[in-house]
Amino acid sequence: MKNANKKKYGDNRESNIPSKNQNKNVNKVNDGVFVFTKSLTVGELAKELNVNASDIIKKLFLQKKLVTINQYLDDDTIGEICLEFGYDFQKKDIVNEEDFEKVEFNDDPDSLKERPAVVTIMGHVDHGKTTLIDTIRNSNLVASEFGGISQEIGAYQKTFGGHKITFIDTPGHEAFSAMRSRGASVTDIVILVVAADDGVMPQTLEAIDHAKVANVPIIVAINKMDVSGANPDRVINQLAEHNVIAEKFGGDVITCEISAKKKIGIDNLLEAIVLQAEMLELKANPNRFASGTVLEAELDKGGGPKATLLVQNGTLYSSDYIVVGTTYGKVRRMTDEHNQVLKEAKPSTPVSVIGLSEVPLAGDRFMAFPTEKQAKDIAEKRKNRKIEEARSKSGGVKSLDELYSKIQEGQLVQINIVLKTDSAGTAEAVKSSLEKLNNDQIKINVVRAAAGAINESDILLAAASNAIIYGFNVRPSAFIRKKSEEEKVEIRLHRIIYALTEEVEDAIKGKMKKEQVESVVGEAEVRNVFKVSKVGSIAGCMVRDGSIMNNSTIRILRDGTIIYEGKIESLKRFKDDAKEVKSGFECGIKVENFNDIHEGDVIEAYKMVDKD
Ligand code: GDP
Repeated sequence: MKNANKKKYGDNRESNIPSKNQNKNVNKVNDGVFVFTKSLTVGELAKELNVNASDIIKKLFLQKKLVTINQYLDDDTIGEICLEFGYDFQKKDIVNEEDFEKVEFNDDPDSLKERPAVVTIMGHVDHGKTTLIDTIRNSNLVASEFGGISQEIGAYQKTFGGHKITFIDTPGHEAFSAMRSRGASVTDIVILVVAADDGVMPQTLEAIDHAKVANVPIIVAINKMDVSGANPDRVINQLAEHNVIAEKFGGDVITCEISAKKKIGIDNLLEAIVLQAEMLELKANPNRFASGTVLEAELDKGGGPKATLLVQNGTLYSSDYIVVGTTYGKVRRMTDEHNQVLKEAKPSTPVSVIGLSEVPLAGDRFMAFPTEKQAKDIAEKRKNRKIEEARSKSGGVKSLDELYSKIQEGQLVQINIVLKTDSAGTAEAVKSSLEKLNNDQIKINVVRAAAGAINESDILLAAASNAIIYGFNVRPSAFIRKKSEEEKVEIRLHRIIYALTEEVEDAIKGKMKKEQVESVVGEAEVRNVFKVSKVGSIAGCMVRDGSIMNNSTIRILRDGTIIYEGKIESLKRFKDDAKEVKSGFECGIKVENFNDIHEGDVIEAYKMVDKD
């Protein structure tokens, strides 16, 4: 029978929502195994196992547990009873749609099609990973229609001998392990680059460990064969000592001798990848809604969140609705590595996508859904669950002052931090600097580190987890500031990493000092921009909050990110100069030495005051 749960939508793709079949209350004995999905009463269990309820009650009584026939049993007890009566047991979780990472795809074998292998290049520093990536990327470029166009995203596809191969660009093990630590596995094959003149080095071993843990086959590229000291046999011997046994030694690891720089042996390597991919029989079902993993993401200045996604199953169409991490969005524009617009992306295709409402994290899983409502509901549920999780794990301090006094009292303190930055790279960097401050008395727990403006969900997460929000090169809007006051969440803003870490460090060391802090006095939204010759760009604004003074220090925010800081040159109400324009009034603002103002930008006026 063809998949009975196949739901047909306009475009015929199968939905990824867990099928009723998958979630059916199994509760039945299968090959001597009792599979159950929910708790059962003594009577129900007796019926399923075909035993007398009184026998179950008796067994439990002997363990000093008094139960009645209508009493529900917990999972452990059900397991025990099964074993007592000679059955094995298995608890099957009900998969909710918001747990889409756990959805099992029961694809009809006929619907599975070959998909390109996804390859990651790893190896010791200076052994030639970047050179190899460049060489492969540029090979045959002259013949291709995209000759010379620079690559836009960190992954690309190459066709060799009629087979496509997907390369993920990020050399280095951090990216690989960061993804894996978030539960994502995207790589089918690891190319281990080892320099023939240097041999196996510490990071070579690290790469082998990563590949082994991920259960991903290795192809060894013995590089720098053009160098006079090249000794491939030594590399093969050294690898064997670490249980990477080359075919030559009777093992199953393919090795290729190459020179990434002189472009020698590259075709052999590509052929080996194709061969290895064939052995792996990589398949996916293009005829279902897409799912996959975020490879990288950033806040595209002016354009909102931008993410590189790897489609791993199904087909992603532009205008699909997707849930990524805890956010959702409509794919507004989908492009390939050459910035060419794509209408569809089949399994193993990397694409750059615009249209998400927040910047996801590398390693986040995404899934497409047939309707916006489904995507929105699922994202909402995932977000709430995250907040719940944080709530149950909380125990942090609400402010640096509280941290300071707890430390003074000699208490063990956990400090929870929600970190928002202007780019994903900075988020990781700041996070790791903060985590280095951990000591016997302090546990720094970064509950969220992401790129993007501070938003309502950050406030909720911080409130739920007793966290302090740190903004790095991002600013909260007036609405968010109000919200943070309501929720009693402290927001601290910085523009230099060491200043941020120093502040936390000082608080930890008990050196909280009186300091000057910024106090926002007003916020205006740019509604129109007028270009005036010899003067420059005048921003036609509406003051939304507080007031703007003609001598205010200001910053300009675009999508919550600071793009300029400076002073007001002139402030006008209609044609007249104004000293102050209050909330609810329109005004014209010329910012000193700055003309790249856009409609939708926010001008924030602030002053420095003593912190009490
Ligand atoms: P990575 O740190 O592993 O990414 O290594 P790179 O690709 O940056 O290469 C390190 C150095 O080795 C650079 O100076 C490259 O030009 C050089 N290199 C890479 N591949 C080859 C090769 O096949 N032959 C020679 N002679 N040099 C190479």
